[in-house]
Amino acid sequence: MHWLEKWVIPPRCVITQEATLERDLSESQIGQLFTPVGVCPQCCEPSFGAKVCGACLAQPPAFDRTQVAYYFEAPLTQLVYDLKYHQQHANARLLADLLAEQLDVTEVQALIAIPIHPLRRKQRGFNQAWLIAKRLSKVLNIPLIEKVVERVAHTPSQTQLTAKARAQNLKKAFAVHPAHAQRLHGLQHVALVDDVMTTGATMHEVAKQLKQHSAIKVVEAWAVAKTE
Ligand SMILES: [Zn+2]
Repeated sequence: MHWLEKWVIPPRCVITQEATLERDLSESQIGQLFTPVGVCPQCCEPSFGAKVCGACLAQPPAFDRTQVAYYFEAPLTQLVYDLKYHQQHANARLLADLLAEQLDVTEVQALIAIPIHPLRRKQRGFNQAWLIAKRLSKVLNIPLIEKVVERVAHTPSQTQLTAKARAQNLKKAFAVHPAHAQRLHGLQHVALVDDVMTTGATMHEVAKQLKQHSAIKVVEAWAVAKTE
C-alpha cells in the first residue's frame, strides 16, 4: 500500500475490525489459514512426495499446474461469501493480494477469469473471479484477456453435486467466443483465475476449450482457495 493511502485510510481487518500493518486481514486471521502442502502440482490433491498423482498420470486434466493460496476454510469462507452475496468488492482486492503473495508467475503471459453465465452476472452485478483477476493483473503486471471465454450453459448451483455429476454438468458449459478469439493470438502460457477451486472440473473444461481453439500449450489453474 502507498504511504499516502495508508495515512488516509489505515488498513483494518475486515473480519475483526482491528488496525493492521499492511493487508485488510489481521495476522491472527491469516494464521488460521493453511496452504496446501504435499499435493500434486497438477491438480492440488494430496499426493505422496508431492509428485504428480496417479489420477493426473492416468487421466490428466486439461490444465497443467494448479496454484492456490490456501484451503477453503474460515475466515476465507466468509470473505468469499461476503464478496459474492453482500457486494463486499473490497474483498476481491484482499483475496487477490493473498493469492499474489504465493504465486510463481514465471512464463505466465496472460490471465483469464473463469466466466459466470450472463444471467448470473446480471443477478449478482459482477463476476467475482473477474474482480480478483483484475486486481491480480494490476499487482502482477500481467495482462487480463477479457471476453474470450463465455459460459454458455446456465448450470444450476454446483455445490450439492458429486464430482462426477459436476463434471457431467459442465460439459459444453464454456465456449471460446469466435469474435474475440484473436485476443489469444501469440499466447502459449496462460493462467485461469477463480475464487475457489473444488474438483477442478471447471478449470478443466475452460482449459480444454482454450487449448482446442488456440495455440496455448500450458494452462495454469489459479484460485485463492481450494476445498479439501
Ligand atoms: Zn494430480
